[in-house]
Amino acid sequence: MHAIVIGAGVIGVCSAWYLREAGFEVTVIDRRPTPAQETSFGNAGVIAPGYVTPWAAPGMPAKILRTLFASASPVVFRPSADPAMWRWIARWLGETRLSRYRVNKLRMQRLAFYSRTCLHELRDRLGIDYEQSRGYLQLFRTERDLAMAQPALALLRENGVAHQLLDAAACRTIEPGLAAGTPLAGGLHLPEDESGNCPMFTRRLRQHAEAAGVRFLMETTVQRIEVQTDGRITVQLRPAEPAQGTEPHALTAERVAVCAGVDSAALLRPLGLRVPLYPVKGYSATVFVRDPLQAPLAALMDESYKVAITRMGNRLRLAGTAELGSRKLDLRPAALHTLLKVGRDWFPGAGNYNEATLWAGARPMLPDGPPLIGPTRIAGLYLNLGHGSTGWAMACGSGQLLAAQMAHANGQGPGPQIDMEGLTPARYGLGPA
Ligand SMILES: Cc1cc2nc3c(=O)[nH]c(=O)nc-3n(C[C@H](O)[C@H](O)[C@H](O)COP(=O)(O)OP(=O)(O)OC[C@H]3O[C@@H](n4cnc5c(N)ncnc54)[C@H](O)[C@@H]3O)c2cc1C
Repeated sequence: MHAIVIGAGVIGVCSAWYLREAGFEVTVIDRRPTPAQETSFGNAGVIAPGYVTPWAAPGMPAKILRTLFASASPVVFRPSADPAMWRWIARWLGETRLSRYRVNKLRMQRLAFYSRTCLHELRDRLGIDYEQSRGYLQLFRTERDLAMAQPALALLRENGVAHQLLDAAACRTIEPGLAAGTPLAGGLHLPEDESGNCPMFTRRLRQHAEAAGVRFLMETTVQRIEVQTDGRITVQLRPAEPAQGTEPHALTAERVAVCAGVDSAALLRPLGLRVPLYPVKGYSATVFVRDPLQAPLAALMDESYKVAITRMGNRLRLAGTAELGSRKLDLRPAALHTLLKVGRDWFPGAGNYNEATLWAGARPMLPDGPPLIGPTRIAGLYLNLGHGSTGWAMACGSGQLLAAQMAHANGQGPGPQIDMEGLTPARYGLGPA
């Protein structure tokens, strides 16, 4: 059976891999020349299942209001006239109640822990190297920041997540490159968490997928999805310019999976499927490591500025800021200034921050947090989207779960290995009747 995957970000490529493994004939379509060129490109690379959390959290609305118009804040709201934004905010506000937060967080963590197992299994089986590192150290600059982490600590204990609260000296033993002069009240170490280069993983998995028979149709934009009278689904295509004349203008398959990140909503709307997906913009800065002794060994998070610092081979990446209200991926100087300040504060001698490569990306965010993985009410049309801030951490599991559902619907395989409660399109009334 033929399955088309729209989108070659980390979610689409993982989906394609597992669909092929499940026996489907797979074609991946993406408008970019290579996979992982959009949101999957410049992310922080952190995989911390115990820390996966919805953006809709209690206290978050007040925090956003306080930082309204403050350009250096880790959370920035830029009100615009976009009705989709206001509809999204109305739903998001409802999800910030403690009871909803708990439900959403548990759903996300169920997926993230499963996904980490899938990633390890895939990594070991295929021998993929993606500049992975082990351990995640959260840094608290002040006693107040440390005190604010107490509820998170309680949750880690409740969920049995391995963690250790450290004083400043112990933090510096784990990360000897940390600058001595920057005030540090303490840290939280999560030894089982990790980080890795998401686009490198995605491109390597693409090679394995291609070798296994997956076809990649790159530099090709999906313009429309159409349901045929025989139940099959056609995607109307626009090849790159200048066209060679040999590219297909449409492809038809029995199954289509939409994994198009933030642009998925626009593709689905003409079919009557309204997915409340909204972009939450973030930034990253990547610097070549000049002196490895002064650079981080693994992943860290500056909890005061909410900036992640990750080591990716011979580079150091700083990533953060959540900006709601702008669909443009322009580089905002104040946000980048904060990232570079955090880098200079903690690892001043690691590299030349003036030569950082700067990037902005849009997190595909649903109001409540967990993604949507599974069948829609249109027969044969599946979704794997809305992974927000933690798509890399959830990618392998999401791909595996999509493939398991599709195969099971064909009478093959046992179905998903985890409970899909709250993780399918049915959550928004988009699933099969
Ligand atoms: C600053 C920042 C830091 C982050 N840090 C982390 C982190 O530490 N850990 C973590 O787990 N996650 C992190 N994330 C989130 C993570 O990057 C995303 O959740 C993930 O990349 C989403 O993947 P995706 O495949 O859904 O989307 P994308 O990577 O955007 O892929 C979608 C693909 O669809 C293609 N496409 C779209 N429309 C069409 C069309 N019409 N026709 C053809 N192709 C189309 C695009 O070209 C693109 O390749 C971060 C995000 C940001 C912005």
